[in-house]
Amino acid sequence: MSDVVVIGAGMSGIACARALQAKGVTVRLIDNGRSIGGRMSTRRAAVFGKTITFDHGAQYLDQSEDAAAIAALGKGAVDAWYLGDGASRIVGVPGMAALPRALANGLDITLNTRVTTVRARCGLFQIETDAGKTTASHAVITVPAPQLAPILGETHPLVQRASNVVMRPCLTLMAAFNRDTPAPFVTRRDANALLTWIAKNDTKPGRSTAYQTWVAQANLDWSAANIDADRSETKRQMVDLLCSELGVVSAKLCHMGLQVWRYGLVETSLGNSFLKDGMLWVGGDWCHGAKVQDAWRSGLDIAANVLHTFDTSLSAKA
Ligand SMILES: Cc1cc2nc3c(=O)[nH]c(=O)nc-3n(C[C@H](O)[C@H](O)[C@H](O)COP(=O)(O)OP(=O)(O)OC[C@H]3O[C@@H](n4cnc5c(N)ncnc54)[C@H](O)[C@@H]3O)c2cc1C
Repeated sequence: MSDVVVIGAGMSGIACARALQAKGVTVRLIDNGRSIGGRMSTRRAAVFGKTITFDHGAQYLDQSEDAAAIAALGKGAVDAWYLGDGASRIVGVPGMAALPRALANGLDITLNTRVTTVRARCGLFQIETDAGKTTASHAVITVPAPQLAPILGETHPLVQRASNVVMRPCLTLMAAFNRDTPAPFVTRRDANALLTWIAKNDTKPGRSTAYQTWVAQANLDWSAANIDADRSETKRQMVDLLCSELGVVSAKLCHMGLQVWRYGLVETSLGNSFLKDGMLWVGGDWCHGAKVQDAWRSGLDIAANVLHTFDTSLSAKA
């Protein structure tokens, strides 16, 4: 049995688990993904024997104080990405996923395991997964807010209290072209376009430059309208748009992929760092904002609150 089970090994869960483990708490992270990092992730693809990568989730960390603090903890797995206009952003190297991986070093993490239910029984939490059961005295859930209901049940008070949070889908295209293809910009953001964000991924430090790699995000309304559409058709439409933005012909395309983020971006956040019900906490980026540093902050605040309950129960026993 662990003292604390943290469900979700994204930036929020990692921040929480690190802070707890640093204070001697036995903590286990469980995630249904194949790798650590959740939406801060990197996709690999092989093109004619060469491995290329795409940051298909979080693109960078802002140059904020919070982001700089995270980057300092992940020293060696981050670098500056120059956008061509003199501005720079913090990115993971050799991919965005490298940062959560470095930050999670030394944590007890079980991947490829979906938590199906979390129930309080006789002062403990019974955590059921698709690979068996585990128990803990404290449970922390850091999944996107809409994914709380399948775990806790629609009528759970924490699910009710998180019900105002809105998370929107984001369809993300990954495309590779031959190196000699024209590249008119490094990044382009246009809130009114169908592709609101386009970035030349291989201009980030440490990425393979064997091919030109591009990441393009569709706007939130188009993403929502097409979330369940035929994926080949969605990819084709997004590739056509990308080619027209870049001024290239699709014959230059060497690879394309599509990531469907069903709960990708926070539109309406909770306005609180976390929610709590007894020895159960829920949190994530959706508590305070929409960014990596919001996820991190929520995880740290949960850990501080969990530690406070340990201190309180120890002083009650003394
Ligand atoms: C396309 C896109 C672009 C973005 N760009 C930026 C950016 O440029 N800058 C920025 O700061 N932020 C960006 N973000 C937001 C950023 O990625 C998130 O704010 C942050 O990564 C969220 O971390 P988290 O730990 O709260 O959640 P997540 O990263 O979503 O982690 C939750 C984890 O829970 C796991 N999980 C879910 N259900 C279960 C279950 N039942 N059992 C077990 N595990 C489960 C998931 O596998 C996941 O690993 C972007 C997001 C997207 C989608």
